[in-house]
Amino acid sequence: MSEIIELLRGRLGERVSLGDEDRAAHSHDYWALTALRSSRGQPPPQVAAVVRPADTSEVSWVLARCHETGTPVIPYGLGSGVCGAIMGRPDAVVLSLEGLTGLHHLDEHNGTARFGAGTRGSDAEAAVAAEGFTLGHQPQSIGVSTVGGWVATRASGQFSTAYGNIEDLITDIEVVLADGRVLRTATTPRSSTGPDLRQLFLGSEGTLGVITEVGFSLIRRPESTAGQAFHFVDMEAGLEAIRVVVQSGWAPPVARLYDPRESLHHFPEDCPEGRCALLWVHEGPVPRVEVEVDAVARICADLGGESLNPSTVDQWFEHRNRVSPWESFFERGIVLDTIEVGCSWDRAGELYRRAVSSCSRVDGVLSVSAHSSHSYRAGTALYFTFLARPDDGSLMENTYLECWAAVMDAVGEVGGVISHHHGIGRVRRGYLAEQLGPVGLDLLRSIKGALDPRAILNPGALIPD
Ligand SMILES: Cc1cc2nc3c(=O)[nH]c(=O)nc-3n(C[C@H](O)[C@H](O)[C@H](O)COP(=O)(O)OP(=O)(O)OC[C@H]3O[C@@H](n4cnc5c(N)ncnc54)[C@H](O)[C@@H]3O)c2cc1C
Repeated sequence: MSEIIELLRGRLGERVSLGDEDRAAHSHDYWALTALRSSRGQPPPQVAAVVRPADTSEVSWVLARCHETGTPVIPYGLGSGVCGAIMGRPDAVVLSLEGLTGLHHLDEHNGTARFGAGTRGSDAEAAVAAEGFTLGHQPQSIGVSTVGGWVATRASGQFSTAYGNIEDLITDIEVVLADGRVLRTATTPRSSTGPDLRQLFLGSEGTLGVITEVGFSLIRRPESTAGQAFHFVDMEAGLEAIRVVVQSGWAPPVARLYDPRESLHHFPEDCPEGRCALLWVHEGPVPRVEVEVDAVARICADLGGESLNPSTVDQWFEHRNRVSPWESFFERGIVLDTIEVGCSWDRAGELYRRAVSSCSRVDGVLSVSAHSSHSYRAGTALYFTFLARPDDGSLMENTYLECWAAVMDAVGEVGGVISHHHGIGRVRRGYLAEQLGPVGLDLLRSIKGALDPRAILNPGALIPD
């Protein structure tokens, strides 16, 4: 290890950091289980060094040296991933993207912008907002994640129902391959030039290349925004309203349906107990928004929805990115996590019921709830939250894993995808083989072998052994 560190220091100097705190801070992401273990005095192993290249050519040089010496490299955005994709190991270096930040280029006429991959999401949004645009990508973690991390995890934003997810919002990427070669995809609204190479890196979680630049197709800031809300008798009724709206061709960017437990938690003063709150946000030119608001209200009423105070939408806007730290729960002996999955419309009600009921049967579970927050013509995403307090505190990790297994098994039984937007990391790695099937798994491993023959890129994440 000391030889490669000497080599890297020879070119990058102090930008190869060996400080204990720095290495510890870069040896994990925001996975609840790592945080739980750390709170019990079992932090993850530390990486040997944190390497901070300043540009693509330095990333290329670092990767070429790591490739030659077989040194594992863990790409690091801002560490907000929640699946354990970042986990320290003493024979690895973290490659931080924090030196590759900022707006490289904004083209008002074409509505495009390109950023260094390490740019914080909220900085990227602010830069395009200053020119009258939005990225259209508003993950809850926009202030603590990078644009490169969004691509690497196939992230989703809160406005995805109209604007799409990260794969729909980017034009092109620049990626450094494991051996240091640089791939730059064409800047074009679309192409028919064989398989789309960007897709190899979308969701690759640092295992196939290091993304160094991301080009976006921008959206003009909407002329008008309007919110409205309804409540429904149960999740099925609310899901049916979303299905009809989306399949009818209406395009509200935000469609969020909360189950009774979450409705009561978020809107205790407005939503009647036992009912499911459904919030819509409409955006676009004034006449379109007006027509859409009326049409969606009619669909909701026809399907049994009753009006809810529209201020619930303002409340959501105000609180939407607030999250309590894991540690505040662990202190009280509570273990918790969120699990987002996806499925077709015909399975959504059954998946909701089955996951809630099987997770609720795990010993010590206090609550299991869900909402739907990203919808498509063909189906929706369900986002579960569980909290558990086992009688015996030493069982917190077991309980955590049992809750995960209950939801993953429900997805397997009903049919759906084990992750809608958080990715695989380590928490879902054991479930990926079944999801992909033997041919899919073989193909994924072949791609890994071709792109990273010495397996230096983020070993242990995403790809099952
Ligand atoms: C409070 C909170 C709210 C969240 N809300 C959302 C949400 O609304 N939607 C959503 O999709 N996710 C959400 N997440 C999850 C997380 O923010 C996303 O997965 C995000 O895309 C990770 O970005 P990051 O820059 O922090 O990546 P990191 O956590 O640093 O890395 C994530 C993975 O990507 C790899 N990686 C990072 N950058 C690069 C790069 N440049 N090249 C190659 N590989 C790279 C890493 O090796 C790792 O495998 C949330 C997380 C938190 C903590």
